[in-house]
Amino acid sequence: MDLMNEKKFGFGCMRMPVLEAGDPTSFDYEKINLFFDTFLEQGFTYFDTAYTYHGYHAEEAVRKALVERHKREEFQLTTKMPLRDFKDNEDLERIFNEQLANCGVDYFDFYLLHNMGHNVYEKCCKYDAFHFVQKKQQEGKIKVVGMSFHDTPELLDEILSKYGDCIDFVQLQINYIDWEQPNVQSRRCLEIANKYDKPVTVMEPCKGGTLVNVPEEAAKLMKEYNSEASIASWALRFAASQKGVFRVLSGMNTMEQVMDNTATFKEFKPLNEEENAIIDKVVEIINANTAVACTACEYCTHGCPKNIAIPQYFALYNSAMRTTGSFSSQAVYYNNIALAGHGKASDCIKCGKCEQACPQHLEVRQYLDDVKGKFEANSIIPTRK
Ligand code: SF4
Ligand code: SF4
Repeated sequence: MDLMNEKKFGFGCMRMPVLEAGDPTSFDYEKINLFFDTFLEQGFTYFDTAYTYHGYHAEEAVRKALVERHKREEFQLTTKMPLRDFKDNEDLERIFNEQLANCGVDYFDFYLLHNMGHNVYEKCCKYDAFHFVQKKQQEGKIKVVGMSFHDTPELLDEILSKYGDCIDFVQLQINYIDWEQPNVQSRRCLEIANKYDKPVTVMEPCKGGTLVNVPEEAAKLMKEYNSEASIASWALRFAASQKGVFRVLSGMNTMEQVMDNTATFKEFKPLNEEENAIIDKVVEIINANTAVACTACEYCTHGCPKNIAIPQYFALYNSAMRTTGSFSSQAVYYNNIALAGHGKASDCIKCGKCEQACPQHLEVRQYLDDVKGKFEANSIIPTRK
């Protein structure tokens, strides 16, 4: 399969619509069905899920909304082996078979080793997860094998030099704000993938919504250049314009997003020089306005013994840091989340589990101290005892 001829856009299923904000398994099937159907009607076919998304229930939701409602040849289904979760060789086999059942299919079009990085690489070598997926490909249960990666370009280089024959493509976090960020290094990781001729799928092109809700000053620059183009379309086009990128994934939560994103890719145009120069200015503005570079992926929350709502708190903190004046409504939201049963930032026992899980390598504990300082010091609002 020539991956560079594939349709350039895929539906990311990490943040599907839910009925209750605090319950990731309360799927809003009415909306999910509608969005999936519309995406297919617009001529796209690729759906990207994972074993761990939505509290380990996303594969089941994709089965109900997609697999059970459409012919198998009408869509391409992708899921991923949870590298943090598997324990040994038998576990690889068990999880893979469970995934086929969860999704209700007998093969996956694409299948990735999920969230590869230093913390799981040794285990993957020990139990040879690389040849495990290659074997599944030879058995016809996977058509195309990939690896999603959130670590240094040096590690990516090492893995592709040793196991490149097992991996057809790489999934990388590429967006204009992380392009030169030292904790993500989008550009350098992409250069390594290019060096090994591995086509690239892009995740987090809008950085968990950060590049949709850009500061007013940045939005103004984009709108002045092209009043028709959405803010999101700039981020999607930036990712898709890079060398070796064959597909960009985006999660969609409204019909407007589905229509806007599919329109961007139906008549895809790479960014021109002027647009790239605008992006450079937008990056400067956003960097000056973002305190914590959290993508809201929620990987950190599963293992937190204090059930601290880490991504929600970071989002509120970022908003509060952009707000001028002595009082911000974010403090109200902060207390409401804590009152709903989550630990507060001050409940953190510094065990560090969240930092081991964070693909952005954020110093979560340190940032929680900042959150505490912002929202808990001199709080005028009663908090849960
Ligand atoms: S360090 Fe704090 S926030 Fe992180 S997992 Fe432990 S208790 Fe939760
Ligand atoms: S702190 Fe890290 S793991 Fe947690 S939601 Fe943010 S980016 Fe994801």
